[in-house]
Amino acid sequence: DLIELDKQHYIHPVINYRAHEKRGATIFKSGNGAYLTDIDDNTLLDAFSGLWCVNTGYGHESIVNAAQEQMRTLPYATGYFHFASEPAIKLAAKLVEITPSSLQHVFFSLGGSDAVDSAIRFIVHYFNSLGKPNKKQFISIERGYHGSSSQGAGLTALPVFHRNFDLPLPNQHKIPCPYSYRLPHGDDADAVITESVAALKNKVSELGEDNVAAFFCEPIIGSGGVIVPPNGWLKAMQECCNELGILFVVDEVITGFGRTGTMFASDAENVNPDLMTMAKGLTAGYAPMGAVMMSDRIYQTLAGDETETAPVGHGYTYSAHPVSAAIALEVIRLYEEGGLLENAQKVTPIFEKGLQSLLSHPLVGDARSRGLLGALELVSNKHTKSQFDPNLKLPERISEAAYKNGVIFRSFSDGILGFAPALCFSQHDFELLFERVRKTLDDVL
Ligand code: PLP
Repeated sequence: DLIELDKQHYIHPVINYRAHEKRGATIFKSGNGAYLTDIDDNTLLDAFSGLWCVNTGYGHESIVNAAQEQMRTLPYATGYFHFASEPAIKLAAKLVEITPSSLQHVFFSLGGSDAVDSAIRFIVHYFNSLGKPNKKQFISIERGYHGSSSQGAGLTALPVFHRNFDLPLPNQHKIPCPYSYRLPHGDDADAVITESVAALKNKVSELGEDNVAAFFCEPIIGSGGVIVPPNGWLKAMQECCNELGILFVVDEVITGFGRTGTMFASDAENVNPDLMTMAKGLTAGYAPMGAVMMSDRIYQTLAGDETETAPVGHGYTYSAHPVSAAIALEVIRLYEEGGLLENAQKVTPIFEKGLQSLLSHPLVGDARSRGLLGALELVSNKHTKSQFDPNLKLPERISEAAYKNGVIFRSFSDGILGFAPALCFSQHDFELLFERVRKTLDDVL
């Protein structure tokens, strides 16, 4: 029996192992468009795109064909040393074309965590190569998520990723989250932005400008509860980093590839990061792949002058995997030419309206979104914005009720419900989504 085998042998990411032994796994067997089917033949509307990654929706034949063709002709070619494959080279060029103009070079990883980890390693190498070995302090944001690698999990600011893991490292620091809903002056966008800029400046001056390497941020804080900073925040953070002489790293692992209405969230504010990390929507989850992109200035420093002969010692066996690269090329074609970006923009107002309409529900204190990334925040009192007593186990009850009602979204531990519908969602899918979400909230009331 699959459930028993799972309990006995399979360690799942980010759960309480004992609780899982009692509950057992939810097992999916197939997917089509925005819908998943589990092993008991229940069909579920997936309003979370797997784990914010299946931006195309499930079952795209053209992606399957691209993968199949690549597997037949060349299932693997190393990207190590001087070797390469055609799809990997084409994908690197395509990514340079579609990302902000500051980004000219691509290093391929297997997902988001190792993209972040690679970025950290490149940054350390960069400042050592520049003869600035003291620049080793890293700053990120409270509630931020930058993956689960040994170093990246320290930039992540969610306590469970630190607990018993001896993190964060001594060189990893945080500034407050631009969490408008929970700030006293949260309605004032300028005040929220000014406060973040001041916090970064203060942190850098506390650590010493000559000691700070980089600031990492997500354009929208995803796993920390879909916290949407005001328009202009990302640009202000970039300008602040430039002024302070520290590298500005944008983690677009969730926000990239059409998720927030433009190809990258950085595009909406004309932001030019020094480095960008990406994964998820890059291959829409059809195969693992991530990337870190960097400016020419950083690349040239890593490359060194003509006398440099030592390799830059960083890479993975599956860096630039040809099957993942072929998939990514087809996925990007679907966003651009297959009408997916266009559809996402078309249906975004329906998504926004649906979220806003739930503000009338007694449990919902806040509704926020950008593009097809959104959240509802549940509170026990709309005036005080107080959270529910954890003993009520509301998030767990919501997940269960939602599943029974045929819908999947993310129910975070602090009463935030996260939504990341695929870019292929239709008006009908959204009608079903909000009908089922409202029913779920009524069921747990
Ligand atoms: N960075 C951000 C912003 C993420 O949301 C995630 C994953 O959710 C990661 C990094 C880590 O990516 P992965 O889970 O592919 O390692």
